[in-house]
Amino acid sequence: MEIAVIAHDGKKNDLVRFLIKNKSILQQERIKLIATGTTGGKAEEAGFDVKRMLSGPLGGDAQIAGRVAEGKTQMVFFFKDPLSSHPHEADINMLIRVCDVHNVPLATNEATAQLLLNAIALQS
Ligand code: PGA
Repeated sequence: MEIAVIAHDGKKNDLVRFLIKNKSILQQERIKLIATGTTGGKAEEAGFDVKRMLSGPLGGDAQIAGRVAEGKTQMVFFFKDPLSSHPHEADINMLIRVCDVHNVPLATNEATAQLLLNAIALQS
């Protein structure tokens, strides 16, 4: 199962803490992580094996949306920062739309991401 992780700058620390907290689930053989560029770099620094796309503002969210549309990515954790504006808002909305089109689980905050991960843990 491929899970995409993305965090806006104001949420990157929260995402890294979330990844570390859930390391035992996320480092299972059956789970592969992909991320936008800068988020992926932070996840790597925390010890995770991550396939990195371009940085979000340079098209990374769009690349992940493409993988969702192609059926390569099965879940998305997108720690959005609702208190700041983003130059690539169009790409962000496109990713959300593509997840809805393809019925792919998408968490846009930590509480929802945790519920999704708990569901995955129950499947093991
Ligand atoms: P980043 O992109 O991980 O490269 O910062 C995230 C985003 O802003 O969508």
